Amino acid sequence: MHVSAARTDVIDRARGAFLGLAVGDALGATTEFMTPREIQAQYGVHRKMRGGGWLGLKPGQVTDDTEMSLCIARALITAKGWDLTGIADNFVAWMKGKPIDIGSTCRKGIRNYLLNGVLEAPCNEWDAGNGAVMRMAPVALFTLGDDEGLGRRALEQARLTHHHPLSDSACLCLGRMLHRALLGADAPALHELTRDLAGKHPNFRFNPYNGQASGYVVDTLRTVFHYFFTTATFEECLIAVVNQGGDADTTGAIAGMLAGAHYGRQSIPETWVRKLDGRIRREVETAAESLIRISPWWRSRIAA
Ligand code: MN
Ligand code: MN
Repeated sequence: MHVSAARTDVIDRARGAFLGLAVGDALGATTEFMTPREIQAQYGVHRKMRGGGWLGLKPGQVTDDTEMSLCIARALITAKGWDLTGIADNFVAWMKGKPIDIGSTCRKGIRNYLLNGVLEAPCNEWDAGNGAVMRMAPVALFTLGDDEGLGRRALEQARLTHHHPLSDSACLCLGRMLHRALLGADAPALHELTRDLAGKHPNFRFNPYNGQASGYVVDTLRTVFHYFFTTATFEECLIAVVNQGGDADTTGAIAGMLAGAHYGRQSIPETWVRKLDGRIRREVETAAESLIRISPWWRSRIAA
């Protein structure tokens, strides 16, 4: 059904996905750990790149969600192929650089690699956080055109830090949604994938939406899905998501990658894009294109 997707359109959507992730991360970081009521009292509707938040960020500053995604992208682009050790090494270098923010499960997984060379965290029934899902954009771009490859690579990257059936299934679902969106699928085709996920794990049903937006991967995806499917533009979706508070930088990052892939690069408000650090903005856009150019989809289009 997607054979006619043009290469330029796919690159545009890929840029939208990676830039959308960074924009959503920076926008949501302001309201991370706040309740909707607190956000309302302080900002009315939060819709500007204003920084601040519990981390005291500069306007447009991104956090671990974007930085860890870039660690993955750089490893794959450097290797021009899959390189799990390269990803883990980049995580280590990033952690040693004292990032502004790092999740406890991520820290534990990276330390386990650093000290013991372990590339797969032990299965932990308590660790169903969203820290692996937030890094899915580069994996989806890199594996475009290869569903089986996505299945394998999504779990490998996820389990560097997070090893839990709900995290695994969430990563696969989001990866498949990104694949479809990159190739121009409409919202019903994306919604179908959320129903597959809920069929396997009914926890992920998001209608009715219960307003929980925590870092528990089930709450995170329910929030993203609810607002993605009840809004009509990138801007509207992101504003709704980050005003729900909770783990708002991460719900923002995931909503941003999905909405960016679906609506395309041009749909992302320039007022938001301009506030990002120029180096980050250029790197995410360049990385998005480079990842598509080494994907199976691109290679098959070149060969055809
Ligand atoms: Mn973060
Ligand atoms: Mn977060």
